[in-house]
Amino acid sequence: MGRSANNMSVALFGGTFNPVHFGHVKIAAELAELLQVQSMRMLPCAFPPHRDQPAVAAKQRLAMLQLAIGEQSALKADDLELHRAAPSYSIDTVQLVRQEIGEQTPLFLCVGMDSLVTLDSWQRWHELLDHCHIVIPSRPGWQAPSQGVLADWIAQHRCDDLAAVKKCSRGHVHFCDLTLLDLSSTNIRDKIKQGESINFMTPDTVVDYIQKHHLYE
Ligand code: ATP
Repeated sequence: MGRSANNMSVALFGGTFNPVHFGHVKIAAELAELLQVQSMRMLPCAFPPHRDQPAVAAKQRLAMLQLAIGEQSALKADDLELHRAAPSYSIDTVQLVRQEIGEQTPLFLCVGMDSLVTLDSWQRWHELLDHCHIVIPSRPGWQAPSQGVLADWIAQHRCDDLAAVKKCSRGHVHFCDLTLLDLSSTNIRDKIKQGESINFMTPDTVVDYIQKHHLYE
């Protein structure tokens, strides 16, 4: 695993963002600070490989993400996965970003605990650490796997010393304990269907966008 020569590190935070909510923005901002990355790139997936195609188009999910992020300096809404025909595999994304940033720059793929537990079903998942670190903030109600192939793999690559992780460009799995909000996009979609308010679950700019475009009704 390469030793890092600079601190221009990059983090990736993928999701369906259907729609984006305060849980996403808060965790991304906290991760950006913890990892001291130059940019935290938030990538809406165009064609999620592990779930049904969202009814709301990727372009609209990206637009909501841009509204939610606003002027936050380290966070960026990234349309990289919107340019790919199908499906949005993380391994393709980290390979592309790795080519873009060079071999020495630390690259962090941030995945929620709910995503981590399915990691061993992802396309070429064994190759992910050849290109990046994987960083996992915990999520209310979810635990890391304690037995099986994935648990063994995590034990093999886990590093709890963040300073040591940051010195390398790739290769480690790191867990962090951050302040999480018990919010989900499913919850927001359900509330809209039931005609309930979604105020304070996502920024006002996103609430306005959803209402203007009659999304999730
Ligand atoms: P859905 O309810 O449709 O499954 P979601 O709220 O889980 O959506 P996603 O777009 O699927 O949102 O999540 C993208 C990433 O954000 C995932 O890695 C997920 O673990 C993480 N995430 C989602 N909600 C939260 C939250 N409240 N706190 C921390 N991480 C979250």
